[in-house]
Amino acid sequence: MSIKENYQAIKNQLPAEVQLVAVSKTHPASAVQEAYDLGQKVFGENKVQELMEKAPLLPEDIQWHLIGHLQTNKVKYIAPFIDTIQSVDSEKLLAEINKESGKNNRIIKVLLQVKIAAEDTKFGLEISEAKELFQQYLAGKYPNTEITGLMGMATFTDDEQQIRKEFLTLKRLFDELNQLKTLNTLSMGMSDDFPLAIECGANSIRVGSAIFGKRDYSI
Ligand SMILES: *Cc1c(COP(=O)(O)O)cnc(C)c1O
Repeated sequence: MSIKENYQAIKNQLPAEVQLVAVSKTHPASAVQEAYDLGQKVFGENKVQELMEKAPLLPEDIQWHLIGHLQTNKVKYIAPFIDTIQSVDSEKLLAEINKESGKNNRIIKVLLQVKIAAEDTKFGLEISEAKELFQQYLAGKYPNTEITGLMGMATFTDDEQQIRKEFLTLKRLFDELNQLKTLNTLSMGMSDDFPLAIECGANSIRVGSAIFGKRDYSI
């Protein structure tokens, strides 16, 4: 199927209040442009270098989301233009984002990435760490950032029960933090599990291969 067919099939399935982040990693700027021309404005990349190469080739009103693990020494490159950093997985990283957004006179939106998967390969804050960081944020420690929500990735498995359990864990934390300060984004769900994520309360999904096709890491 073409990008157009894939994109329209997904858009047709999505409730109006669910944000679609089109994950364009490994795909060329021309593919991003194609999705943009269909009306998509929010794109996700997981590597700073790839984002830095692509962004200048594309329309300026694209909202770029960084969705992959981010090293503190690379924050400065994306701070001038990044819309949202979805992958805040340490206090050190949030402090660095706060510093660099200040230098750029911006408020950068961030999501706290919480570890919900059983696998230990995934990055993310433990639930207790996320709560603590959020408390520091509420106390005014990171004034140049805005924590707009949470992000999580479920275990890579066919076991739907397991995935559901993990998504609901994040939804519960979202509801809890939302009592302290209104959050608007619960980012969970990818190509294979976004319908389940939405059922579990996601209002933002990150979809790559279901739009752009399989990724080829060999090139
Ligand atoms: C690659 C990636 C996605 C999209 O994955 P697909 O399975 O291609 O939809 C979503 N979230 C993160 C963090 C990713 O790295």
